[in-house]
Amino acid sequence: MSYSFRGGIHPEPHKRETSCAAIETLPPPDEVVIPMSMHIGVPCEPIVKVGDYVRLGQKIGDSSAFVSAPIHASVSGAVKRIAMTLHPSGSQSMAVFIENDGKDELYDLEPQDDWESMSADALTGFVREAGIVGHGGAAFPTQVKIRSAIGKVDTLIINGAECEPYISSDHRCMLENTKEIVGGAKILLKMFPEASCLIAIESNKPDAIEAISKAIEKDSRMQVATLKTKYPQGSEKQLIKSVTGREVPPGALPVNAGCLVLNVETTAAIYRAIVQGRPVVRRVVTVAGSAVAQPKNLKVRVGTPLKYLIEAAGGFIEEPQKIIMGGPMMGLSQFSLDVPVIKGTNALLAFAANEDRRVEEPKCIRCGRCVQVCPMRLLPTYMYLYASKDNYEECDRLHVNDCMECGACTFECPGSLHLTQMFRVAKGKVMERRKK
Ligand code: SF4
Ligand code: SF4
Repeated sequence: MSYSFRGGIHPEPHKRETSCAAIETLPPPDEVVIPMSMHIGVPCEPIVKVGDYVRLGQKIGDSSAFVSAPIHASVSGAVKRIAMTLHPSGSQSMAVFIENDGKDELYDLEPQDDWESMSADALTGFVREAGIVGHGGAAFPTQVKIRSAIGKVDTLIINGAECEPYISSDHRCMLENTKEIVGGAKILLKMFPEASCLIAIESNKPDAIEAISKAIEKDSRMQVATLKTKYPQGSEKQLIKSVTGREVPPGALPVNAGCLVLNVETTAAIYRAIVQGRPVVRRVVTVAGSAVAQPKNLKVRVGTPLKYLIEAAGGFIEEPQKIIMGGPMMGLSQFSLDVPVIKGTNALLAFAANEDRRVEEPKCIRCGRCVQVCPMRLLPTYMYLYASKDNYEECDRLHVNDCMECGACTFECPGSLHLTQMFRVAKGKVMERRKK
């Protein structure tokens, strides 16, 4: 049986090229640019100064705020500069520039061989120290998620859905890092002794389902849940609804539905941090799209400028019209290839001009398809109507702030309306209005 939810869309997956090829390791560049903001929450402050020698894995940024995650050097070498730089979000961020000495002198955390005898609190402390954030793109600090769920959830969901087109980094990790993912899930089960664990994978990844099922066959607390392949199956609320039947109320969190959801690679990062003493300094990034010569999955150091990833993928076959960090549905447009890979970068996509769907005069033909596909059961057509008239009171009444900006309505709209973009702006206006 495949688990599913109401609504959603079926975009062309475009994953075959990258999901069949093994992950390649990209050598680190001569200089890494490590932003002090790579997570949701309070940015870190640099704890090194220009001229300091840092080792691979050494902490270089931290914050005393609860919602934050420390940041580590991804190469060894000298700190050349600490300055504001362009961030993938489009804003500026303080960053530490490290000149790579090519030696990879290690500064790992201590591996915790006796983790099975440790308390949930102590284990969560190691998750924090390793700087783990959501690897699926959201980059929420993992220790905060775990701490807020301890004692309140009965279901751990390890998210291997990876429903955005083009992206296959998690798929490859499920095949190549199976032991680390399952090991991380076991550590989580130690923190949540009353819970069971579902590893949720879409049906279009039968090899990953097989690999994970084999790795957990002796563990009665773990089970693979096969999901119907559709978008946005990997979104937390839809995933919880699919595999448990529980609804997360508007404005509430997964913990309110008794669930903790973590991405597969986030789970592997927990294993690497606790069992191997390795903080987050690398990640796997899918490089793909119609403008890319040789799409592939690359293991890269955090702080590597995007241009090196494009180079490693054979460069562009034509001038790209659009470059996106993340998936085509929810990713962030990029305007410079000098910005660095951050902890939440799961993909870098570049699209040729013939994929541009913009039309001169977008028009609603009242077909209702946006309503059918909206996984949040909203009324996009009316929200658009009121937002285009600056009537944010009505937008609020129609729950525009429950829109998770998944882009399903925009994808489906035959009138080519920029629905999601309009809702993003409307959400900000509604919040301003509520504050007033
Ligand atoms: S972008 Fe918002 S309104 Fe559109 S389908 Fe997704 S949740 Fe619904
Ligand atoms: S899908 Fe587009 S054209 Fe159809 S009702 Fe919704 S906004 Fe209008």
